[in-house]
Amino acid sequence: MAELKRLSESRDLTRIERIGAHSHIRGLGLDSSLEAREASEGMVGQLHARRAAGLILQLIRQGKIAGRAVLLAGQPGTGKTALAMGIAKSLGAETPFASVAASELFSLDLSKTEALTQALRRSIGVRIKEEAEIIEGEVVEICIDRPLSGAGSAAASGATAPGKTGRLTLKTTDMETVYELGGKMIEALGKEKVQSGDVIALDKASGKVTKLGRSIGRSRDYDAVGPNTKFVKCPEGELQKRKEVVHCVTLHEIDVINSRTQGFLALFTGDTGEIRAEVREQIDTKVAEWREEGKAEIVPGVLFIDEVHMLDIECFSFLNRALENDMAPILVIATNRGITSIRGTNYRSPHGIPPDFLDRLLIVTTQPYTEDDIRKILDIRCDEEDVEMSGEAKVLLTKIGVETSLRYAINLITSAALACQKRNGKVVEIDDISRVYGLFLDVKRSTQYLMEYQSQYMFHEIAAGEADGD
Ligand code: ATP
Repeated sequence: MAELKRLSESRDLTRIERIGAHSHIRGLGLDSSLEAREASEGMVGQLHARRAAGLILQLIRQGKIAGRAVLLAGQPGTGKTALAMGIAKSLGAETPFASVAASELFSLDLSKTEALTQALRRSIGVRIKEEAEIIEGEVVEICIDRPLSGAGSAAASGATAPGKTGRLTLKTTDMETVYELGGKMIEALGKEKVQSGDVIALDKASGKVTKLGRSIGRSRDYDAVGPNTKFVKCPEGELQKRKEVVHCVTLHEIDVINSRTQGFLALFTGDTGEIRAEVREQIDTKVAEWREEGKAEIVPGVLFIDEVHMLDIECFSFLNRALENDMAPILVIATNRGITSIRGTNYRSPHGIPPDFLDRLLIVTTQPYTEDDIRKILDIRCDEEDVEMSGEAKVLLTKIGVETSLRYAINLITSAALACQKRNGKVVEIDDISRVYGLFLDVKRSTQYLMEYQSQYMFHEIAAGEADGD
């Protein structure tokens, strides 16, 4: 019994959708003239930076300019990653957005330039145009559950019943296609609710049926073909059309699919390994050919690199060159560091970024939040996490957010909700907040504690006198 209970509990758990740090962000919250609304699409305040992000969005959407780089710089927890997420959500599904933390590039399996190349190629889309054969025709008769026997047997025609088998006849000159696709069409029609007299389009490759409208007058010019099937004759070419179908893939996906050592399954596991330079060269040549023939176009997307100060001087040189390429994506990088050393050198520079790289950046700064902004963000997070909180508790949590950090206050929401659940409460109250505030330290209190008790820890380095002087 206990076994069973545990099993059902674990099943319930897997059904719960996980809520991420930025799952409340649904866009940049801009109006049609790219002005930032005070609070919209999960975004609050930070108006200046959001307006700038809106312009970047326009730049990306136009897709004409390659290799621009934008730096989001600001104190920890001021919404740099949230802004990048806002840009990602505002882009359509067809514009690639790849995101990495700089520290991920230093993996044991891949060289850092290979990891960067893969990230760059994940953010470059290729829109490939293909001519698909679409057949348009009028549904003359749909016969459910019994085959047609002759010209007059239209008794059962009407809406298709999902799940039932039936026979469809449509106006087309291409008999073979109808035979070949009959099964697929009937399957698809069950979902589309097509009736006799509707004009439909059928995609030969996918078997997808789309209803285009109703014909004005139905032709009754039947011509029996085979014992149970009827077709309507119509002039050649009238009903068969070729339509353009567009596929969007990233250069990285093409690389992986064409890399013999990895094979396309690596796309699902992510374990792509190093991809040989010759493979990429061949792909670039092929894509260039397609572009010339008008079969493909490049869609420069966005590569977002968080914690960019973790990149070393080699990575910056590599990126500098990569951005010169006419297929380069728009690069958005973020950092919370001030003047610090450039990794791999003894030099210091703003944000730990080499001056030649800094020079090509459009810099957007984020500002600390006001109390009002913090209250609104906490409100949104309570909604997102499905936590009901009393007004007083929210006031206290906002105060904590102002005194400590927004992130700490956001973290307290979940733990306070758990504390409330434990006492069988429905609404999080001040006491729940105080309780978790006491249980979990923020950075300030944790530092203070360390200052007091550092002598009991290993490798303490601050001399006794320094402790109170900061
Ligand atoms: P760090 O420098 O430490 O990486 P950051 O500037 O990237 O910090 P975020 O992680 O974006 O900060 O913000 C911290 C939390 O606050 C996240 O959950 C984020 O979604 C939320 N947040 C930040 N700014 C806003 C905003 N303007 N509107 C709504 N939510 C926000």
